[in-house]
Amino acid sequence: MVSLVGAGPGDPELLTLKAYKRLMAAEVVVYDRLVSDEVLAMLPSTATKFYVGKVRSSHSVPQEDINQALITWATQGMRVVRLKGGDPFIFGRGGEELETLMAAGISVEVVPGITAASGCAAYAGIPLTHRDHAQSVRFVTGHLQQGETTLNWSALAQPGETLVFYMGLGNLMNICQQLMAHGLDPLTPLALVEQGTTQQQRTHIGTLRQLPPAFHSGDVNPPALLIIGGVVRLHDSLSWFEADQGDALGFQDGKHFPPLQ
Ligand code: SAH
Repeated sequence: MVSLVGAGPGDPELLTLKAYKRLMAAEVVVYDRLVSDEVLAMLPSTATKFYVGKVRSSHSVPQEDINQALITWATQGMRVVRLKGGDPFIFGRGGEELETLMAAGISVEVVPGITAASGCAAYAGIPLTHRDHAQSVRFVTGHLQQGETTLNWSALAQPGETLVFYMGLGNLMNICQQLMAHGLDPLTPLALVEQGTTQQQRTHIGTLRQLPPAFHSGDVNPPALLIIGGVVRLHDSLSWFEADQGDALGFQDGKHFPPLQ
């Protein structure tokens, strides 16, 4: 039996009860980079742990090898937990692993997790669909294979929407430039939530044309989630998470760095 389990964004208390039960019963846990140290610390000492983390664009363990290992252990009758940051089905390649395991005849289940968008937004005080600001929210990959051509920018550059970019830190400038070029107001606020829901969480506020000062100074550590839209304005008044030590409050457009063109 393999359980594909979402570990949530970092705070171990954001594990679901089902995820917690599976972890406690696990004999083998295969986890990657986004699973927080606090969650890993909860694993039973008897469980064998394998790190198969990927660093962006350099895969430390190829996906095929992960799949094969899961199949091998499950076939041996082990209780295997495949632990993934956030939710397995949101930019987590859980779908591919599920396909492979099912094709191999392994019995499998999926335990959803709190995805980074939900966790970061909650802990940063940014209600993703506050009715005064947004009628919809989109989860978008910022890890663009062929530069800017892969996303439908004009569809994304709509007012009254919230955009959440996963894996967007390396492409932040490109994303903002494309959204402006396709008509989104340059004063649209954005938040970069760094290490969301952990004790290291920091929230950096800027606008499309005026990126957060911490980004310019290279002071944003991954993982970081990019939230774009009017809802970000609420962060100033709704931020409640005391560990959040970002440089957000009092940020004013035009104050720190020259705007993007
Ligand atoms: N399956 C995961 C996402 C994996 S993609 C989920 O559902 O959350 C990896 C991206 O998720 C990172 O590049 C970052 O943008 C985002 N991310 C994951 N955990 C995060 C965290 N604690 N804080 C900020 N961003 C996070």
